[in-house]
Amino acid sequence: MQPLYDISDIAPLFRAAFAAAVVGVIHAIISAVESPRTDSATLEEIPMLTTDWHLHTRNSCDCREGAVPITMAGTVADIEAAGIRDYGITDHLHTPYNLPDIADSRREFDCLPPASHRHFGIEVSSVSHWELEEIATGRYAAPVYGLRDGGPANAAPAIGLTTEDIAHYGIEYVVGGTHWPLYVPLERQAVIRDYHRQNLFLACHPLVTIVAHPWWWMGHWQEADGAYRTDPWFDDFRRIPPSMHDEFAAAAREHGKAVEINLHAMLLNQQYPAAFKRHYCEYLAGLQAAGVPLSLGSDHHAQHHRYAEYEGLTHQDQHRPSAFDTAVAMLADVGIYDRDLWRLPGS
Ligand SMILES: [Zn+2]
Ligand SMILES: [Zn+2]
Repeated sequence: MQPLYDISDIAPLFRAAFAAAVVGVIHAIISAVESPRTDSATLEEIPMLTTDWHLHTRNSCDCREGAVPITMAGTVADIEAAGIRDYGITDHLHTPYNLPDIADSRREFDCLPPASHRHFGIEVSSVSHWELEEIATGRYAAPVYGLRDGGPANAAPAIGLTTEDIAHYGIEYVVGGTHWPLYVPLERQAVIRDYHRQNLFLACHPLVTIVAHPWWWMGHWQEADGAYRTDPWFDDFRRIPPSMHDEFAAAAREHGKAVEINLHAMLLNQQYPAAFKRHYCEYLAGLQAAGVPLSLGSDHHAQHHRYAEYEGLTHQDQHRPSAFDTAVAMLADVGIYDRDLWRLPGS
């Protein structure tokens, strides 16, 4: 086939201009192709976490007794100094007994200067219908953590938050977590089945935005030195059947929920074995690969630590959340990066 033109026939000056134009086009193509790579390389060289959708202020029931005297304004200043650009406050609500804490939190939040990157959320627990009804009778003096004994095994799960509460307190998103077994025997298989059941309940609940810290455990089976080494899944996270993870991922994806990467309660929890945490990160990567958005939550408790610090590890540079660098590296190892994480729509 005859070429449209032959460059050897073109006058030398025109040929030079043509060659320069070709080089320019090639440069443009190369820089267009390379610039995303340069951006991601920069992000990976300076890994930072920029969101935090799960943290507790001094109004949360589990913060009131703590040793760090810090207001919500102080907590917020620490968060922003650590480089977090989008975040929300999520104090605890186990049952309606905790609503005065949420009212206090909302009042203090409203005293902060308005900012579009700061949000008012809440962390609810999976509790039982049985305890909500019991507490509503007014017969219990101070059911701060609901009623953790006495209910029917495998009680129907519930959350203590209503659509009216969400409107009344201006709650922008709801983090929902499994925090305890619902009256089943403290036996490995029973607890695994019950936690899976509660995680699925939260993943399907219309008021829940983010399922918090799946497979977090506290209490029974803790050893004298504070560590967890055996049941219910700390000797080997793979004891939980993969079919449960598949079912949970499908429920979260189909109901449009995010699932949380929790720093202090899971990845940085010094009471959990390192091997467990490695497998847990692989589990999170599996959720991401299954199309589930992952959100980041420090689970900071304002009265127990300064932000981004934990036992034995404090700020080395006030602009770098040093305790979080460990988590960033753990996540990068399984292919999870800040740029891919969930953000509150519109933030
Ligand atoms: Zn929680
Ligand atoms: Zn929490």
